[in-house]
This record gives sequence, C-alpha cells and structure tokens, in this order.
Amino acid sequence: MLSSKQIPGVASHPECDTYAWFSQRAWVEIDLAALSYNVRQVAGYLSPCTKLMAVVKADAYGHGAVTVAQTALQSGASWLGVATVPEGIQLREAGIKAPILILGATHTPEQIQAIAQWQMQPTLCSPKQALIFADTLAAIKCDSPVPVHIKLDTGMSRLGTNWQQAGEFVQLVKRLPHLALASIYSHLATADSPDPAIMKAQHRRFQEAIAHIKGLGIELPCLHLANSAATLADSSLHYDIVRVGLAVYGLYPSTHLQNTIKLQPVLQLKARVTQVKTIAAGTGVSYGHRFIAPRELRLAVVGIGYADGVPRHLSNKMQVLIRGQRVPQIGTITMDQLMVDVTAIPDLQEGEIVTLLGEQGKEQITADDWAKELNTISWEILCGFKHRLPRVAVM
Ligand SMILES: *Cc1c(COP(=O)(O)O)cnc(C)c1O
Repeated sequence: MLSSKQIPGVASHPECDTYAWFSQRAWVEIDLAALSYNVRQVAGYLSPCTKLMAVVKADAYGHGAVTVAQTALQSGASWLGVATVPEGIQLREAGIKAPILILGATHTPEQIQAIAQWQMQPTLCSPKQALIFADTLAAIKCDSPVPVHIKLDTGMSRLGTNWQQAGEFVQLVKRLPHLALASIYSHLATADSPDPAIMKAQHRRFQEAIAHIKGLGIELPCLHLANSAATLADSSLHYDIVRVGLAVYGLYPSTHLQNTIKLQPVLQLKARVTQVKTIAAGTGVSYGHRFIAPRELRLAVVGIGYADGVPRHLSNKMQVLIRGQRVPQIGTITMDQLMVDVTAIPDLQEGEIVTLLGEQGKEQITADDWAKELNTISWEILCGFKHRLPRVAVM
C-alpha cells in the first residue's frame, strides 16, 4: 500500500480512498523517493567541494516548492534557488532555513525590505541595482549586511552586467555599505546542445572576468555557472555551486546527456475514468467531431482537461495508460474532460485510474514525449499543471 504524505487540502491519497474519486478526479503525484534519489545522484556526481543548489522556482517546476525543498535539503542539497521574492517567502514561512538565492531581478523598496527581513540573497544585475540596494538598506536601517550575488552576462543576453565590466561592478559592490559579496555567477545559453562551442566561449569569458577581478586584488567569493545540462555535461563548469532544476525532477536536459547519471521522473499525472460507454461506428466524438469512430468502440471519459494543464494541442495525438496498457486519446480535449478509446479493455470500470504521465507496469509516458509532440521542452510541460490539481506526495 502506498504511504501518503498529504499536502494541505487533500484528505488522503486518492488511490487509498474508495470515495476519493468524487472529489479527486485528477491529481499530480509527486514521488519523494525518486526526488531524493535524483538529488543524491546529482550530489554524488559532484566533487566534495561543490555544493548543490536545488532550483525550486515556479513552485518547484510544478511539483510543490515546500515539499520539494524540504526533501532536497534532506537528500544532499544545501542551497535553494527561486525566481521571485514571494517564492522565497513561501519557503521561509514553511520554516526552511537554508540559504535562498533569488535568481530574478529585484528593485523595489518592498522587495529589498522583504529580502532583508526574510534573510534571502538577491541577484545584482547592474551597478544601478547595487546602488538602489545600498540606499534602500541604509534607509530601512538594516544592521547586518545582505549577502548579494553578482550576475555577469557572458552570452545569454538575459540578466547581468557584461563580463567585460565585471571589475568595476565588483569594486563598486565591495565599496557599498550594507552589501556583502557572496558570489559571482553567470548563466549558460546552450549547455543542453551537443555542440559545446558556445558554452565553451561563455566559460572562457567567465574565466577572463574572474582573472580580471583577481588581478584587482579582490579576494574571490564563491563562483557558479552550471545549470542541469552543464552539470551533467562538463565537470570543469561545476565551480563552488551547481544550480540544478530539471535533473532534480528526474528529466534529462537533452538525450545526449542520458548516459551520465541515472534519474527517475518525480511527477506523475493521474485522473479517474468517470464514465464508460459504447458508441456505434460513424459516431462523432467531442467538440467539432474531430474524431469519428471508425468502428463500434468502447469509450471512456476521463476527468481531466486543458484547464488542468493537459495541452489541447495533444487532442487525437496522445496516449494514456490504463491497467498497464497504452490506449489512444480520441476527439478534442475539453476544459475538464477528455475521451479515450478503451475497446482493448472491455471490462474497464468507472473510477479506475488513468495515468497521463508516468508509469504503469512496463509502459511509461514522460514529459519528454509530450514536449516532442508539442515542439517544446519538458520544462514547459512540468510548469503547465494548474493549481486546480492537488499535489499528492508519495514515498
Ligand atoms: C532556472 C535556472 C536554473 C536551473 O535550470 P535547469 O536547466 O532546470 O537545471 C539555473 N540557473 C538559473 C539562473 C536559472 O534561471
């Protein structure tokens, strides 16, 4: 029997409760053992000097930030990365004490005050932002210095100061009161590509900037550069911290990195059969009748739809798992429901479980399968599950 650890709002694990399916028509299941395994796998891949930051932005890529952060910290991660101030506050309110780096930009007095109050660590992207921080912290009479992380743009062209201006930027931050330089970091644009040329060019720029800073007589703080892909691709990119998101959730950033460490997908998407019926040959199914039954078939209605995050673009293109068998989805996916052809399972009962993403027996459907069909990336699939779906943690 599954042991289940409940996330607020869920009475019990849906598979353990006969009546749960009236309320739990669909849910996201989070396998904490797989999460812990992945964190240990990644941590074991690093030298003992490199720390692991679990990136838990966007509600831990849709997995539930607090539960993921707690499990990751128990399994070998020592830092947490979030995108925004509210994401960091959510972790602190849950009692999490680990250092939290805010990867996004923060500027307003409210954000800066919250960062100081909740002991979070901001990313500084420009000298201007550093000055705003110093002024605001002085104005609110913050007594202990706030650890700050300088972001260099080495070729991503997103946040950060151009690497060639790193020296002046670091000197300014060192001079400003209320700020303590905690790290210098950059982010890679193409670490998931099998061609390492651009990644290596970014690495060289990072090294150049670091050498320049050292040449100014500044003692180097902690340095970091690698996301999941870079962590798996090249240990010379590990430095003092690696910032790992996707791999913690058990997916590979690219197929060419699958031979590095073993990972297990953490998230499964499940729903219930809500009705089963037989339809005659020639019968149209769902909005627009984009599927016409080519023969008499057994149809099951499943209680999940695009408002839960099942992309409507997968209509007539996806499969689901029922009783360990792959069966095709048919007709347009609707807001709250979708239909599948279950002719192969004649005795299927209402209330039975449908796995849309995850494993049943020998069959598996992954976020990568959906991403491929939709011409996108697994990151976007994972972040797409709406909060209408309860997150249920299992061990
Ligand atoms: C999201 C993010 C990461 C994690 O990326 P993954 O590819 O999911 O490992 C690392 N660093 C920064 C700056 C990020 O924004």
